[in-house]
Amino acid sequence: MAAEEPPHVVFFPLMAHGHMIPLFDVARLFTTRGVKATIITTPANAITFSKSDNISLEIIPFPSEEVGLPAGMENFEHVTGDANDLLEKFLNAIVLLESPLESVLERLRPRPICLVSDMFLPWTVDVAARFGIPRVMFHGSGYFGMMVTDALRIHRPHLTVESDDEEFVVPGVPGEVRLTKRKMSPQWKKAVDDGQKTGPAKLMEAAFEAEKKSCGAIMNSFEELEPLYAEHYRKVMGIRSWSVGPVSLCNRNIEEKAARGKKSAIDKHECLRWLDSKPPDSVIYICFGSITNMSTAQLHEIAHGLESSGQNFIWVVKRPGDSKTNGSEEEEWLPSMFEARTKEKGLIIKGWAPQLMILDHVATGGFVTHCGWNSTLEGISAGVRLVTWPVFAEQFLNEMLITDVLRTGVSVGVDRYWDMVVEEASVGREKVEKAVRRVMIGEEAEELRRRAVELKEKALKAVEEGGSSYKGLTNLLEEVGSFHAREEY
Ligand code: UDP
Repeated sequence: MAAEEPPHVVFFPLMAHGHMIPLFDVARLFTTRGVKATIITTPANAITFSKSDNISLEIIPFPSEEVGLPAGMENFEHVTGDANDLLEKFLNAIVLLESPLESVLERLRPRPICLVSDMFLPWTVDVAARFGIPRVMFHGSGYFGMMVTDALRIHRPHLTVESDDEEFVVPGVPGEVRLTKRKMSPQWKKAVDDGQKTGPAKLMEAAFEAEKKSCGAIMNSFEELEPLYAEHYRKVMGIRSWSVGPVSLCNRNIEEKAARGKKSAIDKHECLRWLDSKPPDSVIYICFGSITNMSTAQLHEIAHGLESSGQNFIWVVKRPGDSKTNGSEEEEWLPSMFEARTKEKGLIIKGWAPQLMILDHVATGGFVTHCGWNSTLEGISAGVRLVTWPVFAEQFLNEMLITDVLRTGVSVGVDRYWDMVVEEASVGREKVEKAVRRVMIGEEAEELRRRAVELKEKALKAVEEGGSSYKGLTNLLEEVGSFHAREEY
């Protein structure tokens, strides 16, 4: 490689918004330090990656036909819920991306010196090895979630209890982590219990294997947030890691904050005008991420709960038909006259919301979240109090981190895992009302607020020059650079 050429790093995110959005931010962080970045994705996902200096986009075809998926179904959000055969096909399709990835790596100039790929693309570790470059893994989750998931896999403590509601303690991790089987993925549990490794469970197993062969992991976390668990990850699980987050903080201005992931369903100026009209710290924001869908019955309970809480709110509602190309009909998903009654206090966004922009607005004080790791960190970075409402994946563990360790939020009281589609109204309106009031008004809210603001300050410091995440990125780039020097590309 000619001396004047910048080091070139390739990023390959999983095709899901909760993975593409943060890895795009990571790529942007790399470019702020003189790296040339290339992102690899498929045609229907390209829109997520807005034009950015020093970031090139390589589009590889998605093998829809080969696996029997309808054209355009290239994102995780299309294959969730009841459509389990779609998920299986989607997972098969991802594996077929190996050869297109190789062609890109073959062709790219300057030659890439490192492949940063998602945890759920485990086979990329072998591709990188064939090209003689390191694979650095990117996680969608934090240290606590990774640590407990690993311990559950190794120790299988859930096998010691008789009923789904009996609590067990997760061994081999710092502190007392208590769980029930009902809060664990049934598919994953089944795979761990009787060795039937298919679908997502098989992928998870491959991910953990590939983790060991990777050069290390980039973590969207910061050292001050979960120091004990970061240490456990490195020393006990034996994986090298670099904390570089919260990566969402690289979005500094309104434009960047408003245009993340997808086109927003609301005009940003209209949204800002609405927020500007509310007193500081008076709005609760409700959003369940990019994939989760709620039954009409559950939406009704949320609506009633919000209304009787008496708080200002922005509520993001995603209906099954919004994201699926085979979309479904409109239903009566709001109680009658709800919008008219709450016109002054509420703003409903039907579809994609400019989440970062809303969370960072001074009027926003609380966030009802499904505890997806990105939303969790974005809430923490904005210094808002959280109402935790986990649904799937490691979200119940993120809830524990928020409510028991960081103590910047309260649980709405969910007691069971749903596979991304909440089919019943398992959280009643009283619980919604109570949790919202707890984080928005009164003494407890004030305590939560104090801790949340402290944590926000730590997050901001971490990413500033000289902060722990800034240094984490420096160390990672030195590592990548040292490989580059060794290999003399
Ligand atoms: N997001 C957004 N607007 C929405 C829904 C989600 O900007 O209406 C973003 C959110 O800011 C976060 C990501 O999408 O960065 C969702 O990731 P998370 O890990 O919270 O949840 P997932 O979608 O993976 O369940």
